[in-house]
Amino acid sequence: MSIIDKALEANRKYARNYNPTMGKRPAPKLVVVTCMDPRLSDLPGILGLPQADIDVIRTGGPAVTEDVLGELVVSNRVLGTTEILLLNHTGCGFTTFTDEELNAKLSASTGDASPAPMRFFSYKDPEENTREQIKKVRSHPWIAKDVPVRGFIFDVDTGLLREVQPIAQQTAA
Ligand SMILES: [Zn+2]
Repeated sequence: MSIIDKALEANRKYARNYNPTMGKRPAPKLVVVTCMDPRLSDLPGILGLPQADIDVIRTGGPAVTEDVLGELVVSNRVLGTTEILLLNHTGCGFTTFTDEELNAKLSASTGDASPAPMRFFSYKDPEENTREQIKKVRSHPWIAKDVPVRGFIFDVDTGLLREVQPIAQQTAA
């Protein structure tokens, strides 16, 4: 039996105890951008918040792409979240290759070099990645200035979060 088939079987049991009030419109308070890595999945545990309070946007890395910016705007302006947390982590798979290397490897291993090179948003330093994300989100005109945008690195060995300080704002000339 495939994993998905097992999951479907488990879902029938899950639905028996499902709280139907969850079907109402969600009212999340915090939006988290984090990596696809499964070690980042227990956000209610990591952050000590109810699942219903957390809007989650997940990408590899994570990468704050144009799509992610759009989702952050919807989260703030449509769903009503009031704070933005950018959650990076140690030991990220996206630091283990460069986009060029992975494109070359996939062309070679599949024997098909026809796809245009893919953008995987690989990176080297989670701290630098977090600073760039803060800058990118903070500078978007549709993210209100009174919405806190803070970046953290989750240590996969200890479970602790460490805050990354944003790049100091340049003083106006
Ligand atoms: Zn990752």
